[in-house]
Amino acid sequence: MAKHQRMPTVKRIKAVLRALNLDLFSSDPMVRPAPATLYTKIREHARRRPAPGAISLTVDPKASIKDPELYELFDRFNWMYFDGLLPSVRIIWSTRMMSAGSYSPHDRTIRIGRKYHELFPHELADTIKHEMIHIRHFHHDAAFKLEAKRIGASLRAQSHPSLRKPVRYLYACPSCRAEYPRQKKMRMSSCGRCSNGKFDVRHKLCLKKA
Ligand SMILES: [Zn+2]
Ligand SMILES: [Zn+2]
Repeated sequence: MAKHQRMPTVKRIKAVLRALNLDLFSSDPMVRPAPATLYTKIREHARRRPAPGAISLTVDPKASIKDPELYELFDRFNWMYFDGLLPSVRIIWSTRMMSAGSYSPHDRTIRIGRKYHELFPHELADTIKHEMIHIRHFHHDAAFKLEAKRIGASLRAQSHPSLRKPVRYLYACPSCRAEYPRQKKMRMSSCGRCSNGKFDVRHKLCLKKA
């Protein structure tokens, strides 16, 4: 959190613009439009009304801004990959989370793991893209994977010893015997491999070890 908040605004905007040019024009490095033009275009696009049928949200933008960089990236990817149609969500740094990121539909919040990105700072854009797909696809199902491929987002985050918490519970699938080490108790979880994205009581995970 602190790292990004301390970054001067001009520097941050420059970084965003640099990334923008790279992403949009990497195939033709000889022709580079003025960054200001592009930036303005994105701003305009982000302000445009969503198409009919698009999910609309009423989130107070002032209340939700925690780090402008996260919102800049969200707006940029929304424009680049989703025609600007993803609803605006809250995006915050999480100091407690050990994983790269999460999206919670209940409070429409993308949480970005601070600890993770201190270890892998260059993965911030990837994490945001991944969590943006979760706005439409809750599970890592086939539709999610297609989207990840389309926009070039990773399916999995890196692992690092300092991100690992001790395993406290070991669950197993009664059907395929796959094991699921967990830090927390699970009540209504079924095997991800067997149950096809939805809870399926036939593949409900059983506690093997506590
Ligand atoms: Zn995910
Ligand atoms: Zn299974």
